[in-house]
Amino acid sequence: MSLEGPALTLPQPAADAAEGRLTPMMAQYLEIKHANPDCLLFYRMGDFYELFFGDAEVASRVLGIVLTKRGKHLGEDIRMCGVPVERSEDYLHRLIAAGHRVAVCEQQEDPAEAKKRGGKSVVKRGVVRLVTPGTITEETLLEPSRANLLAALSRVRAGEAWLYGLACVDISTGTFTVGEVAQAGLAAAIARLEPSEILVPDAVIDEPELKALWRETRAHVTPLARDGFDAASGERRLCAFFGVSTLAGFGQFSRAEIAAAAAAVAYVERTQFGARPPLSAPTREAADATLAIDAATRANLELTRTLGGERAGSLLAAIDRTLTPAGGRLLAERLAGPLTDPAAVNERLDAVAWFADDADARRRVREALKRTPDMSRALSRLTLDRGGPRDLACLRDGLAAARAVGAILQGAALPPREIADAAALLAGIDGALEAALGDCLDEELPLNRRDGGFVRAGFDPALDEARALRDESRRVIAALQARYAEETGARTLRVKHNNFLGYFVEVTQAVGETLVRPPLNAVFVHRQTMQGAMRFSTAELGDLESRIASAADRALAVELAHFDRLRALAVAGAAGLKAAAAALARIDVAAALAELADAGAWVRPVVDESLAFEIRRGRHPVVEAALKRDGQAFVANDADLSAPASARGGRIALITGPNMAGKSTYLRQNALIAVLAQMGSFVPAEKAHIGVVDRLFSRVGAADDLARGRSTFMVEMIEAAAILNQATARSLVILDEIGRGTATFDGLSIAWAAIEHLHDGNLCRSLFATHFHELTALARRLPRLLNLTVRVTEWQGDVVFLHEVTPGVADRSYGIQVAKLAGLPKAVVERARVILEELEASERQAPVERLVDDLPLFAAARPAGGLAAPPAGGPDALRDALDAISPDEMSPREALEALYRLKQARAGEAG
Ligand code: ATP
Repeated sequence: MSLEGPALTLPQPAADAAEGRLTPMMAQYLEIKHANPDCLLFYRMGDFYELFFGDAEVASRVLGIVLTKRGKHLGEDIRMCGVPVERSEDYLHRLIAAGHRVAVCEQQEDPAEAKKRGGKSVVKRGVVRLVTPGTITEETLLEPSRANLLAALSRVRAGEAWLYGLACVDISTGTFTVGEVAQAGLAAAIARLEPSEILVPDAVIDEPELKALWRETRAHVTPLARDGFDAASGERRLCAFFGVSTLAGFGQFSRAEIAAAAAAVAYVERTQFGARPPLSAPTREAADATLAIDAATRANLELTRTLGGERAGSLLAAIDRTLTPAGGRLLAERLAGPLTDPAAVNERLDAVAWFADDADARRRVREALKRTPDMSRALSRLTLDRGGPRDLACLRDGLAAARAVGAILQGAALPPREIADAAALLAGIDGALEAALGDCLDEELPLNRRDGGFVRAGFDPALDEARALRDESRRVIAALQARYAEETGARTLRVKHNNFLGYFVEVTQAVGETLVRPPLNAVFVHRQTMQGAMRFSTAELGDLESRIASAADRALAVELAHFDRLRALAVAGAAGLKAAAAALARIDVAAALAELADAGAWVRPVVDESLAFEIRRGRHPVVEAALKRDGQAFVANDADLSAPASARGGRIALITGPNMAGKSTYLRQNALIAVLAQMGSFVPAEKAHIGVVDRLFSRVGAADDLARGRSTFMVEMIEAAAILNQATARSLVILDEIGRGTATFDGLSIAWAAIEHLHDGNLCRSLFATHFHELTALARRLPRLLNLTVRVTEWQGDVVFLHEVTPGVADRSYGIQVAKLAGLPKAVVERARVILEELEASERQAPVERLVDDLPLFAAARPAGGLAAPPAGGPDALRDALDAISPDEMSPREALEALYRLKQARAGEAG
């Protein structure tokens, strides 16, 4: 998603101010606005952030707030709207969600200071922060179970091609990763990370082959005006940020990686104005460490969100039993990027298995985890000095939970490495910070530290004394109000407070008239007349005012000093806190996956380096859950795509079967089982053996992509092309109904050739669902092709779905029965039956199946072992006959006749 900048029609501050056409305040506003042209400017005025000119129009439209005006400029009204500071987070949220960036400009001195400089002086103001989608930290602006990533891209030449550096920072938690990716893998890498904002050098935005990516990504694309950093200046920037003299201590990074990481850090610095988020040192992620899943496959399989963009209904929602926000984020990250190293997968599986076996430890750990708040995000806010007392309490409660979890795990028998490491780390946490927080903080806490009241009574005698004075004064006010009411005889008399008058007495107009006359006017000094009310001050109130104010100020100052002390302690211990938070998240995920496995009877998969793919009684977790809600059972099914002994490649299962039988479900469940296994989860099956998959491809469902000028068929072919060009013997390929979007024989031919290519060229493990029953004949010639079908039975003329996948071939598609079930008009159903009979009769006369024995025609185009060999040239007569064919304009019968002609031509050549 690209950003639409705010519409600006701004006066020039310097020139207009010199000519006296601007008030000093407007001149200041414009100067700041000109320095931040690509942001909406939140300009602080007292209790409001005001927006002016074009910004005001944008904000009033997006936020639905009233557009007003404030004075004129060159005879035209200055448009204005404002949001109260107290509720600004909500408004910020909506502006950011609508794709805007906001510069927050604060008053940087007391207005009284400005007044001292003379009547026309303006309060000093400056931008303290740019709020952009990728750099937010506020709890209300963030989704708890989703990382908020800022990605930065760089690119360098690598021979003929470009190589991209991709850095990813989450300033709300401090994570920082960097990797390298070729242009072909860029879209998949971005789809995996799902950043909220991505910084892209101008030249890369303009790259023709990437234009569609920038248009379609969910991330906000922020252009980087220059090409960014080269490796040398980037390294200097990173070293300066982390306070080190060389990056060597963090690992080895490529030029592209350093440039991307430096761009990310520079942007963080630019948007945070000196405040420093607790970023970890960058860690390197190798591109092939995770299972490559392109954006289309990811979307089609609905891994982390559904095709409609919702989390509910996705695989993630179906498997998420985590109890903490950080655990939820880690689970999502693992699901989005399953691993390819069997050792690493098995380490995760060991942890899940351990929790699956020890239900008691699991229950106790999960009980403790329920009380674990989001420590890393609280820490980040505190480090950026944007945190409040509740963030300190988050650390207090998080540390207590960490201690509890550590104690449970420490005593555990034979924990696997991941759990033992976490237990050691959690048990080793220094209790000083937790104790300091626990001693000082009260139970009920205000959101903002400036509201005070967060330090426990009895903790600090100086604070208790100031509070007593403040509260005593309040009682004195109440007594004073009673006395004044008595003296004036006005029962409705109230002592109130506002910033302008301080403490004052408010009475009705009628009573007020008596207060302005002797003798009462000796005590009551008239200050304001309102609609139906009058306000007065008294010397006693003035005196009390200053006593209360100083006591309250003193109390607040003491509290703020405690806040700063605790905050400094937390920041000093940031590394340990982050490590504890990360360990808790890992424990949460392992225990949650064990809980899921236990509840759903999932099993530990065998994940190794083989080319096996064997699932016994597998299920589709999302469909199964949906059926269960309706009280229906899911029918479990086997799959075996393992490469036979001594074969170079895996098997291709060709699944035919009626509409609605469950072919798509079967295809997807096997892909999801592979994803789940490699993310380190148990799987919904009785047994699973998976040789790690390097890339997962799917071509399922059909969607028009008219916005990009691509028809359904074009999208299908682009996806199929990617698969046939890229799948390796380690890949898993899921193809659903390939070739359906065109004329029958075109489609059949494409599907046919695609299967041959997968079988002889790609050698990958594949599942191929189709309604072209003719293709099943290929099993006679392709040794690793097996035919599967989904069983149905007929009962009283209607089809009954058994959802059972068995070896074999479907005799028909039952499309008309399904259409009848769907409620197609009876006349149409009857007519369709008649037509079908006619068509089937004509086909019986010349079965297409026979073609399979005449395969040289097709074999001519088959690659000889490698990928995508160009078609070999045929004899002229054959070629001419082929050229004369335009399949789109042919009926099935004409197509068949054309095939016979081709056969004849071939026979002529041979003779
Ligand atoms: P079409 O060819 O029309 O696309 P299909 O064969 O791909 O159909 P699916 O979409 O996979 O069929 O399944 C249709 C419905 O059947 C699903 O929505 C689900 O409710 C049910 N179903 C599928 N598989 C199973 C199963 N194994 N057990 C129980 N119900 C199932």
